[in-house]
Amino acid sequence: MHAVIRTARDGLLSLLYPADCRVCGANVDSWDDGVACARCWERSEWPRGAQFCEKCGLPMTRAAGRCGDCDDAAFERARACGAYRGAWRESVLFLKSHPFAAPRIGRSLRDAVAEMERDRGRFDSIVPAPLHPEREAERGFNQAEAPARALAQLSGRRLDLLSLQRVRATTPHRAGMDARQRERSLRGAFIVRAPRLVAGRRILLVDDVMTTSATAHAAALALREAGAERVDVVTLARVVFAR
Ligand SMILES: [Zn+2]
Ligand SMILES: [Zn+2]
Repeated sequence: MHAVIRTARDGLLSLLYPADCRVCGANVDSWDDGVACARCWERSEWPRGAQFCEKCGLPMTRAAGRCGDCDDAAFERARACGAYRGAWRESVLFLKSHPFAAPRIGRSLRDAVAEMERDRGRFDSIVPAPLHPEREAERGFNQAEAPARALAQLSGRRLDLLSLQRVRATTPHRAGMDARQRERSLRGAFIVRAPRLVAGRRILLVDDVMTTSATAHAAALALREAGAERVDVVTLARVVFAR
């Protein structure tokens, strides 16, 4: 890119992103990194050699296998770029008020997805997890859309903003709800408006954060019922409970 344009762009982005790391307060050297410094990003990566549930991507202490909680989930596999703390947590929070994904976030998604595709083949389209229209109107945008758009651009996959819609606003993470109650509260929360965009396709659902897999399950179920061949999930971050 031309140096003058790059300088102008960096100037604009430096207005958007804070100059200080939101995690540790140090100077953020590169606008590429968004809200956290390079050191905090490094610290927020999954530890080397980490083990994950092979289906839902939950970090596990024991060797390969499944966590035991996700066997009935309608998605094929879910992965997160990092744990919901440090740089990833601050990035997810920032995204709720600024609909821009820092280049580093796009690249992390691309790398996570490349690994998923290496095992099981290409995805046909990328679908951001939708917000209920009322909630989206309140916020002004859907925070899953910017990272999904960045990923679509980097990977060359089609971005599908039309098919999946959220028709009920639910509060799936209310304290005290068990897994079954959460699942019930999400039943029928998603519908597919354009089944022809979904039928026979391998779909990658993109969301900002996974707390339980209940939302991803409900969205994947709607897509599968509309004929999707397969639904996988990638999120920026994953809330990791002590287990
Ligand atoms: Zn930092
Ligand atoms: Zn699992």
